[in-house]
Order: sequence, then structure tokens, then C-alpha cells
Amino acid sequence: MSDSTDPAAPDLEDLADPSGAAEYRVLARKYRPQSFEDLLGQDALVRTLRNAFAQNRIHHAFVLTGVRGVGKTTTARIIAKGLNCIGPDGTGGPTMQPCGVCDNCRSIAEDRHVDVLEMDAASRTGIDDVREIIESVRYRPVSARYKVFIVDEVHMLSKNAFNALLKTLEEPPEHVKFIFATTEIRKVPVTVLSRCQRFDLKRIDASVLMTLFNKVTAAEKIAVEDEALLMIARAADGSARDGLSILDQAMALSDGKTVTTALVREMLGVVDRARIYDLFEAVMAGRIADALAELRGMYDNGADPVVIIQDLMELTHGVTRMKAAPQAALANDLSETERDRGRKLAETLGVPSLTRAWQMLAKGLGELQSAPIAISAAEMVLIRLAHAADLPDPASLVRLLTDTADPSAPAAGGPASAASGARMQTPTPTEPKPEPEVAAAGPTAPAQDHPDEPPPASPEDYGAVDDRDVTSQIPVTFEDVVTLFKERGEPFLASQLEKDVHCVSLTPGSLEIRPERGFDIRNIGQVQQHLARWTGRPWEVALSEAAGDPTLREQKQAAHNARTEQAAADPVVSKVLTLFPGAVIEEITAPAIEAAVEVGTAAADDDGDDGPDDDFAEDIGEPPRADQAGG
Ligand SMILES: [Zn+2]
Repeated sequence: MSDSTDPAAPDLEDLADPSGAAEYRVLARKYRPQSFEDLLGQDALVRTLRNAFAQNRIHHAFVLTGVRGVGKTTTARIIAKGLNCIGPDGTGGPTMQPCGVCDNCRSIAEDRHVDVLEMDAASRTGIDDVREIIESVRYRPVSARYKVFIVDEVHMLSKNAFNALLKTLEEPPEHVKFIFATTEIRKVPVTVLSRCQRFDLKRIDASVLMTLFNKVTAAEKIAVEDEALLMIARAADGSARDGLSILDQAMALSDGKTVTTALVREMLGVVDRARIYDLFEAVMAGRIADALAELRGMYDNGADPVVIIQDLMELTHGVTRMKAAPQAALANDLSETERDRGRKLAETLGVPSLTRAWQMLAKGLGELQSAPIAISAAEMVLIRLAHAADLPDPASLVRLLTDTADPSAPAAGGPASAASGARMQTPTPTEPKPEPEVAAAGPTAPAQDHPDEPPPASPEDYGAVDDRDVTSQIPVTFEDVVTLFKERGEPFLASQLEKDVHCVSLTPGSLEIRPERGFDIRNIGQVQQHLARWTGRPWEVALSEAAGDPTLREQKQAAHNARTEQAAADPVVSKVLTLFPGAVIEEITAPAIEAAVEVGTAAADDDGDDGPDDDFAEDIGEPPRADQAGG
């Protein structure tokens, strides 16, 4: 790596850690951040700590959480340095700019400071290990200002160990600081968390990682092609350490001068992005022959079909995001080409077809993973997808069907293929299933030129594996939709739909919704897939900005309120309410006169589930039981 073909190697000695040993050290270690300035992408943490240091109000315990490789223990050590740095002249106080040269800074950086104790809770989980800490807490630091205990993977501690620690955390001596690190913050008891200042370390953006890698490669005097750097940054998945390890490998495999895109691609098994765009464009334009040729080309070059489908999914997601939030197009981890091509795709494709593509790819990915010959399965996925791209989306279809008396009449400005769209309605679950038509379909011919073609969309395309799955009931109201989810054993989705989703429009095969925050929009694909499977027909579930109906939960609440008011106005009920102060109407069974009035908070009466014949008079005729009559 000592080749000096890069004359513009900037001065980056300060980036490398001070113990500049002569032997080769892995990059992740060599370029381990030594100061808060080196910490990448953790602005919130740095800002908060800076304020705390400035006001001399430094918390006595911190918990750092984040995915592995994001820099938790590195950050812990930098904090330890900041707490204990005495500056080059030995007179400095706690600082956000540890000098890196004083005894404290140096020995902490080299992991040999007697007062900075690191413990890995993954290997030392017991009460005795913690007791050791607690014992030593009592003694003043030997040479540092603070005794700093760094406990990595703190969630691994046993319950007893946590309890023992808790007492110390409640009243820590002045000279002690705790820094906990964990990948699983939810496993750390709240009693411990509540005594710590918490920092969530973020995954580092690919663009930030690229900047780091640029610096590192410049310092290492090796050139890396931009595309290669971007691939490494992506593969690092938010971790500088992982990224530097990949870079290390790439440099070792290179000729020592340049890390090429081809090398990294081969090393990581990633597919050329441009080719993924080519493939996606071909598929979405319905150019099946082109798509298959492209796929085969990638495969012959060693690309894994599973990775190709995953890449297509990622691209679909990216384009959909660009469409939903155009500023996403400015994300820095996209190359110029990708941004341009992505933007064009976002302009061309509608959200319904993108959602459909996502769903079909997701399903296809599952098939690929269990298919004996992955490449064949991948071809089938692409054929289905390209074929579906020919179809109008069901929302346009329904509009078309309701707008024109003759469904086969092509509508001006309508979807590409009115005729094929009309036939899409034809298959119903009760009819024999049509043969999968995909193999027979001409690759690019518009469907209306082949009036004898079998229906292009069969339940298979949409996941109907089994006829028993298909219901004869197509939901008509949104409530029907929710009921379907309940009946089909999807209580979680059902409850989300009920609570947090406004129905904007619902026609067979098309549902437009406006979700509240509580609804995870990543579930849309699932909703769509389930509906398709259960009804044996394609469904589009699209997001809308229209207000739509109140959520079902709101509707129920409103109805309940209305009935409660009505019930309270009933002469008998109002009499009861007067006779028993504190009585509340808890449940009403239709008709309103049969309102079951519960006295006080008593809910022991199990008559509530009975039918309308339930004897209301008996309920209110009962004197309140002694233990409830106090009101
Ligand atoms: Zn120092």
C-alpha cells in the first residue's frame, strides 16, 4: 500500500490513531475515531454532550444503543477520554476536545488505563462480575479524574447483576461514571435506563461513509473507483467498521493501485446497477424478451438470481419512494445515473403498478428461495411481472367499467388495454382455474391484438394457491374488509385497519385509504396480497390524500356515544341514573331500551353477551350489592 501514484495525498495523519505502529493494521482499527470530530453521523450525541460538558453537568451514567458496528464502544472510549483529558500541559479539565497526547488520552486509546475499565457483559454476566465493579467503585481513581466503567452488551447481565448495579447507579460516588453499550436496549431494565442518559447511535448514511472511505483511501494512497466506493458504502449498511473491513479486503485483492468497480462487484457478488435499471425498465415496459435476455446475461456473469430479484425490489422501493417523496431523489447515496433514471421511472410509473411490482417480486423472491433451479424461477417471476405491466391497474379498470356501457369499448386516454382489462374481471373463484397463461403470451404484443388469449390475470398471479382460500364474498364495505381480516386469522392487520385507517374509496379490486400514523404503511403490500388471495382476484391498495371516512373505530365510538345519549334520555334509564348516583352506562344492547346499566364499576354481570331477549328489567331490578352500594 506504499505506492505513491496519488500525488494529492492529503495530510490525514490526524485521522489515524496516534500509536502509529509500523506493522500493518486493519483499516477499521487504524482509522478508529479518536475524537468527537471523528465520530460520523452522531451529531445529536455530540451536541448534547457538548452542552453538558460546557455547563459542567455531565451525567453519571450513559447508555449507548445502536446496531453492531455503529461505534458504541469507540464512542464510550472517546467519552472516557473527554472526561479524563488533562491537556498537553496537564492542567486541562473535562473537554469535548480530548488532546490525544496526555497520559490519560494515550492510555485510554491504547486500552490500558487503570481507571477506565471495560467489561463485556456477553462473557461476564453474573453477579460476581458486577460485584467486582461495585467493590471498586468505592475506591478513588488512581490517576484519572473519573473512574469510568464501560460495560458492553449490558443487556446480557443477569437480573441479579442488574439489581446489584442499580444501587450503585442510584447513588454513585462523584468520581465514577458508567457508560453502557447495548444492541438491544429493550432488554435493559427500565429501572436501569431511567438512571442513564440515553444516546441512540444512528446507522451512518452511505454518503457519509463514502466521505470517510475517500479520506482513508487517500491516506492509504490507493485509488478507488467511485462506483466501487458506493458499493462498499452500501454493503456496509451503516457501519463504518464493516465498511472499512470490506475496503480492506478489496485493497488486498487489488493490484495495489486501484480498486476497481469490477473487483468490488465480484467480491460482494453485487450486480451492476445500470443493468438492474435496464432489466427493470424492460420488465415494466412489458418487453419480456429483452428482460429475459438481460437476466440471462447477468446470470452468465455470475450474478445470483436471488440477488437480482432483491435488487429489483430495492429499485422498486426506491422509485416508489421518489414518487411519494420527490426529495428522496436527492439522497446522496445514489449515483448520478441512478438518480436520473430513477426520476424518469418515477415519472412514468404509477403507484399502483409499483406496488403491484413490489408485491409480485416479494412473492417471487419466496419462490426463488425454495425453487430447485433459481434462474428458472426468476424467469417466471419476470414473465409474470412483465405481463402484469401490460394490464391497466384495477382502479382504472373499475373506472372504465363503470364509465362505459360497453366494457370492451376502448376509452379515449384510458389504460393501454381496455379489452384485456375487461377480461380480467371474468375469472371468478367458482370457475375452473384458467391455465397459467404466461408461457403462451406473446412477449410484447398488446393484448387487444389477441382477443383469443386466455385471461391475462389469474388468481395464481396474485397468490391464490388454493381454492379453499378463496371466499365467494367480495367485500363491499370497508367493514367487510376488516371482518375478512378477522375471519382469516389476521387480527393484527384487522385491528390496524380498524383503528388507524380511513377508507377513501372501495370498489371491487381497489381500495384507497388514508392511514393514520399508527398504521405501518409497509403493511399495504400484505393487505393487498391477502385480499387478492382471499377473493381470488387482483387488488390494488393505494394511498390517498383525501380525508375519506372516519376510521371504523371512530365510527363505532360515535355510534356508541349517540346510543348512550339516547339511552340516558330514556325515562327508565334516567330514573336509574338518578336513583344510583355514580352509575354509568357501560353497555347497550340493541334496541336502546335494553341498555344494560351497570351500577358503579361492577362489571361482574355476564349477561352482557346475551341476545336482545336479555331481561333488562331483571338487571335494573336487582338492588345493588352491598359492596357496590357505597356510591
Ligand atoms: Zn488528553
